[in-house]
This record gives sequence, structure tokens and C-alpha cells, in this order.
Amino acid sequence: MKKQWKEQIAGRDNLTENPKNVLQGTVAGYPVAVSLDPNSRKYRVAVAATSESDSINQRNDLLAEIKSTYAKVTEAVYQENEFVFSGPLIGKFAQEIRAVLDRMTAYLPMQGYRPCCGCCGETDFPPRLSSINGRFAMLCDTCYEQKTAHLEQNHQAKKARKGNLVTGLVGAFLGSLIGCVLWFGIYQLGYIAGIAGLVAAVCALKGYEMLGGKIDLKGMIISVVLAVVMLFFAHQLCLAKEIYDVFSTEYNITFADAFRSIPDFLEDSEVSIAFYRDLLIGYVLMAVASYSTIRSMYRNASGTYKTERY
Ligand SMILES: [Zn+2]
Repeated sequence: MKKQWKEQIAGRDNLTENPKNVLQGTVAGYPVAVSLDPNSRKYRVAVAATSESDSINQRNDLLAEIKSTYAKVTEAVYQENEFVFSGPLIGKFAQEIRAVLDRMTAYLPMQGYRPCCGCCGETDFPPRLSSINGRFAMLCDTCYEQKTAHLEQNHQAKKARKGNLVTGLVGAFLGSLIGCVLWFGIYQLGYIAGIAGLVAAVCALKGYEMLGGKIDLKGMIISVVLAVVMLFFAHQLCLAKEIYDVFSTEYNITFADAFRSIPDFLEDSEVSIAFYRDLLIGYVLMAVASYSTIRSMYRNASGTYKTERY
């Protein structure tokens, strides 16, 4: 990310960075939050404003105009009482955000918009920058508390639900099997399948949740470990296939023979280095691909949440 993005977005407006990668303040009196997510490499601009006189058609025209004018604005919507613009963190995104804010400051007062809470539209109390599971918005105290209470309720409800370890295990097994098939298939094409690792982990977790009724930390660990073990098995099948392909015509061996001979082949250092190297690369790719997905799946399934105000 370029260093000048803050200055470029803020322009002459009083927008300050708090917390990191989030600019907050007001633009022409309207509460604004610009958040940059370096992980997903996306930005999100929220402008809280409400109007009784603006028409939906006019507003839609404005949003369409902004989307077609600025290449780095891939989404422009008005929901609840908030204008939201988002897009990728590439190229001249900061200049474009600045231009959008300028366009908004021209449009909003003209159409009778007033600064408000981005959720309920309350205009009497100034909203505060709030983060609900990593999404930043300008919210009044009541909305913030309501959203937090709702998440807490959801968390308690999920916590109270009973899970079944045995059926969960079956689900995780079936789920990771899908990843194994993919691993084996992609390996035949000559690639090491990090994406198959992701599929195995995600399907194992989903399988555990579907058949086990709920997923908790224990279920999550079991699912991931199972996916790792199953991929080891899938990788052995890949080696067995190689052995079978090379020796089946000459020695008339079956696939099972080939599989049983794996330990003998792994005594050969050249074979074992290639075997474990590919496996390791696959696991590393799997870890990279799965990390954020698993984290958000777990958060979703267990109802854990994070809300904060700045
Ligand atoms: Zn509110």
C-alpha cells in the first residue's frame, strides 16, 4: 500500500487514522469511515446520511454515475442510512475515493441529507466509529448496543446447542474425502494441489458441522487434523499410482500391490525426498489457503464475535 493514501483520501477534510488502516471523521459534516483491509485487499467507504426529500431514482442515478466514472469503485449502494462504496486496493484507489467524497459533498446537502447514524438514521446524536466483526460503520450508541446484544444472543444460542462427536467425525471424514479426490486428480495433472487442501479442510469442517450438529474448537481441531491425515493418504495413493504405472506392465502387479510396496520405495532417498517435498508444499499451500477461511467459518459456526468502538 502506498504511504500517501491517508493524505490523498483526507484532502482538506479532518479525517484521522484510528484504528490502524481506518480513516474516520466528517466530510462536509457527514460522518465518514474509510477502512482498508490489507488481507482481502479491499477498501470500504461508509458515509452516514439521511434525507426525506431525495428520491430513490435520483439516488440510484448518482450511485450508477459514481460506479461508471471510477474504475476502482466496484460497488456503490445505499443501505439502511449509509452510502457504501467499495473496491480493490489497487492503482489510484485513494484519488478515486477522494473524488467520490467530493462528489458526495456536492450531492448530499443539495438533496437535503443530514448527518446521522449509519444504521437507524437517528440525527440527534453524533454517531461513533464502530467495528462489528471487522466491518466499520458510523453508529449511534443504541444501534451499537443492539448489534452487540444480538451477536451475544446468537453466540449463546450456538453455545447451548448440543453436538455429537461421532456423527461429526463421520461428517469430517466424508468431507475431507472430497478434498482427497481432488488432490489425487490434480496431482495426476502434474500439480501440487493447495486448493485441494483448502477444499479438504473446508469440507471436513462443514461435514463435521452438518452431521455433528455443531462445531466447536474441539470439532474444528479434529476436522483439520483429519483433513491433514486424509491428504497424507491421498498423497500415498498418488505414489502408488506412479509405481503401478511404471511396473504394472512389466511385473503384472495390482494397484494394491503397488500401494503395499510404498514403504520399500520410500527407502530410496530420491523417491522419499520427492514424496515428502510435494506433500510439504501441499500442506503449506493448504495452510495459506485455509487460514482465513477456517477462521471465518469457525467464527460463523460458533457465533464468536468482536465489536469495538473508536
Ligand atoms: Zn442508530
